[in-house]
Amino acid sequence: MSKTTYHPETLAVHAGQPVHGDPATNARAVPVYRTTAYNFRDSRHGADLFALRELGNIYARLMNPTNDVLAARLAALEGGAAAQTLASGTAAIYFTITNIARAGDEIVAAANLYGGTFSQFDAILPNVGIKVNFTPVNDFAAVEAAINDRTRLIFIESVGNPALDIADIEGYAALARKHRLPLVVDATFTPPPLLRPIAHGANLVIHSLSKWIGGHGAGIGGVVVDAGNFDWSDPKFALYNEPDRGYHGLRFAHDLPEPLRPIAFSLRLLTVGIRNQGPTLAPDAAWIFLQGVESLPLRIARHSENALAVATWLQRHPKVAWVRYPSLTQPELAAKYLPDGAGGVVVFGVKGGAAAARRVTDAANGDIFSILANVGDAKSLIIHPASTTHSQLSDEDLLKGGVRPELIRLSIGIEHIDDILGALDRALAAA
Ligand SMILES: *Cc1c(COP(=O)(O)O)cnc(C)c1O
Repeated sequence: MSKTTYHPETLAVHAGQPVHGDPATNARAVPVYRTTAYNFRDSRHGADLFALRELGNIYARLMNPTNDVLAARLAALEGGAAAQTLASGTAAIYFTITNIARAGDEIVAAANLYGGTFSQFDAILPNVGIKVNFTPVNDFAAVEAAINDRTRLIFIESVGNPALDIADIEGYAALARKHRLPLVVDATFTPPPLLRPIAHGANLVIHSLSKWIGGHGAGIGGVVVDAGNFDWSDPKFALYNEPDRGYHGLRFAHDLPEPLRPIAFSLRLLTVGIRNQGPTLAPDAAWIFLQGVESLPLRIARHSENALAVATWLQRHPKVAWVRYPSLTQPELAAKYLPDGAGGVVVFGVKGGAAAARRVTDAANGDIFSILANVGDAKSLIIHPASTTHSQLSDEDLLKGGVRPELIRLSIGIEHIDDILGALDRALAAA
């Protein structure tokens, strides 16, 4: 499958697997390969695989044909050169950062992050010696001021959670190029084919597969897509320029065979991060995500259409104080980055503050909506972030991240829009 000649709807069904089926068995569906290790033809074959002179399966902590189909499919959908699957979106983020930065290094991150990512950056990365400089989203003067000679990457979310700000990816990409830093985009809230961060200048794209890509709330996983467009030979990237004790003394920016050099990040993530630290995605989970990916373009179109209808309906409701939905709140950025739909999440504030927000949430619970800490399910979901997903944040960090006390987050499913609006109407009446 050539990734340039087919549309996303086609890639979602076919990319990564030959159309005539599984190469080993001719099975048309992607098989789940449940094996721990793989035979070498002979000792020389084994030696070539270990030395990366030949690419092939060694041990399932780092290689599995089921996961390979999923990774290739997501790389094709994002227009990337390679991808690695990991056990969660959280692991994909952590192992991306530590595949670029080490103790003594710094990163610059937008402040409006997913709560779990904020905690990882705020509380965990400093413990391994990596300092994180948070800057308000799209404040390029602040980003510029936060970059110094220890900075190793810029990290943003395409659409922040839960305030739903659209990041101006091209503005970030220009700064990243100027300072020769990779731009890492967590695009979980804008799954393919809504947005292609690489076409706007991103170098690495992360997704939690647990959300819309899986789409059925049935598993945890993550992926990192490598655009293959970043030059790691600048000596400040010590992990790529010094002999790597994690992999036979290889210098990833120099010693890989020429065709593999553009995907040095992805190969190092696999052979050092995943191989030696073990955040492997189980092949059974990869198979579940492959079922989701096949219908992703269909589902995300419906999620976006329903969410926009909910947002416009809420704007007119007398008990609603304010509504945020990317294409309503930031129409210019949405027209540029999200022309085909702005995703499935709507946030709004109810009049009456946190207490009223909790009453609406409880009233909706069980009537189409479930109250739970997830987004991206085919089913509609509701939550009050200030008391749950973001409750570990201080009041100041809550406001910095755009999480007001009266904010309710809706993840709009693919049910019939009239049923969704009916449930919301009943919940708001009960408040
Ligand atoms: C859910 C989520 C994550 C974390 O993914 P998990 O698969 O739950 O570990 C990271 N970023 C964003 C934007 C998310 O929504």
